[in-house]
Amino acid sequence: MSDSSQLLVRRIKDGTVIDHIESAKALVVLRALDITGREGNVITVALNVPSSKHGKKDIIKVENRFLETGETNKLALIAPHASINIIKDYKLVEKRKIQLPDSIVGIFRCPNLKCITNSEEHISSTIDILDKEEIILKCRYCARTLTSDELVF
Ligand SMILES: [Zn+2]
Repeated sequence: MSDSSQLLVRRIKDGTVIDHIESAKALVVLRALDITGREGNVITVALNVPSSKHGKKDIIKVENRFLETGETNKLALIAPHASINIIKDYKLVEKRKIQLPDSIVGIFRCPNLKCITNSEEHISSTIDILDKEEIILKCRYCARTLTSDELVF
């Protein structure tokens, strides 16, 4: 991390740092992780931080919470290049890449308006990933195949 971004975002003692999020995606990332701020822990969100690698990036620091692999893999279609840093006692104890899971539950809506997951009934959408290289997706309920561009938040 460059000096300027360290000034913007203070170090944390324990928690999770999500770095290298594509710029202006941090708020979508928070929503996908169901982080609302109501949990009470300190959450720092930095948007459009200058980055040597990609020009601009977003950073999220969640104090006193260690995100599980199953949670961070939900970000595969939103922030595929993000890195997950688990910090314990100011030390980086785990650096994790996001991997595409076999299915994603409850983040995206199916673009098929007639799909049962878009009806009044409270059914969470389930998107299966058929092809992890080409990113071919399929709604488990209506069986429509999708690309990541078609997903609705
Ligand atoms: Zn569907």
